[in-house]
Amino acid sequence: MTRDVAIAGAGPVGATLALFVADADLDLAIVDARHEGDAGRDRALALSHGARLIFERLRLWTALCAQAGAVTPIAQIDISQARGFGGVRLDAAEQAVPALGYVVSYRALQRVLDEALARAGVVVAFGTRVRGVAASTDAATFELENAPPLRARLGVVADGAGTPIASIARQRHDYRQCAVVGEVWLDHPHGGVAYERFTADGPVALLPERDHYALVWTCAPDEASRLLQLPDDAFLGELSAHFGARVRRFVRVAERRAFPLALDVARNPTQPHLAVVGNAAQALHPIAGQGFNLGLRDAYDLARTILDTPRAQLGEPAMLARYRQRRTLDRRAGIAFTHGLVQLFGNDLPWLRVPRGLGMVALDTLPFAKRAFSRAMLYGLR
Ligand SMILES: Cc1cc2nc3c(=O)[nH]c(=O)nc-3n(C[C@H](O)[C@H](O)[C@H](O)COP(=O)(O)OP(=O)(O)OC[C@H]3O[C@@H](n4cnc5c(N)ncnc54)[C@H](O)[C@@H]3O)c2cc1C
Repeated sequence: MTRDVAIAGAGPVGATLALFVADADLDLAIVDARHEGDAGRDRALALSHGARLIFERLRLWTALCAQAGAVTPIAQIDISQARGFGGVRLDAAEQAVPALGYVVSYRALQRVLDEALARAGVVVAFGTRVRGVAASTDAATFELENAPPLRARLGVVADGAGTPIASIARQRHDYRQCAVVGEVWLDHPHGGVAYERFTADGPVALLPERDHYALVWTCAPDEASRLLQLPDDAFLGELSAHFGARVRRFVRVAERRAFPLALDVARNPTQPHLAVVGNAAQALHPIAGQGFNLGLRDAYDLARTILDTPRAQLGEPAMLARYRQRRTLDRRAGIAFTHGLVQLFGNDLPWLRVPRGLGMVALDTLPFAKRAFSRAMLYGLR
């Protein structure tokens, strides 16, 4: 039996795609390795205003905001560099938008999406792991653990981790850095202000979340191991010293962990009868908060392409070419912008401090530059 569309992974990206096509007259299958009711490990997702609009189209934004502490608006973003001059303050009120972005709980979002899938009558085969993917001239086939293979005119890989797909070439770049993440509290309310500080070891970000900040501290892998082992007081002392006087006193830390940072991109996210979306298509450095937003736009654009394609032509080269045309510019820009920012700000080359500082001064003082940068943050780079 050949389905119309089969999606591997009902994470935020796969679930969003499934919800957009749920009402169409399609034979849709979706599988996920996690167990029913398990919304995954929590993390603070950085959502752009454009991502909010995607969830509004699905009528899910209000439900998400109704979950206690699930969504924290970002009112201002403060960008600065250690050991250098210049700084930028972006302000939602100045840009006439309700917020510059949102910090969203991964688990809360996943729960809202799982409930919406159930309401829409989309049955997720939970506890079903995809072991391999094969694309042929007429269909894609997912090899499943403990279940018969799943064949579809269009197979979509949205498994986040990037199940190895032999036919899809990937570009990888190991940043030789880790992100130490955790929750930190200041001795005063955050007021919706997010901070991004570029230091010699890499960027440090503080994202306002509920009553605390979600911390993303990039550093060398050895340093990350050392930071994880420090007692809380010593960790907070080092964070204060590293962050500088931009914020006042850190008083508490919880949930510290670290993960390695790499750029891992599918060179071409389509093969005949197959599309790769979300983190499986592009896992980016968190420096600019672009990764998840790009993934959501993959889901949205693929759903539009599916909906304007006759069933018999799903997965055909012409359909996949239309999808690539919609995604290529945005995707390339998001990847290049993020990678470029890491190269420009993720080092301590003294000769770069002055141009970096001048760039930030220009961004802060030239209204058109500030507006263009804010719009890129809000809606993506297309
Ligand atoms: C460790 C880590 C920390 C991160 N921290 C942050 C952060 O702090 N802030 C931020 O904005 N972004 C963060 N990200 C990125 C963010 O999580 C992703 O952009 C986002 O989750 C992408 O959504 P997705 O649906 O593509 O993938 P995922 O969220 O990974 O979802 C994939 C889904 O596929 C399922 N799956 C996986 N493998 C299989 C398989 N073989 N068969 C079937 N199902 C499968 C999973 O169970 C899951 O439900 C982090 C990523 C990682 C890996």
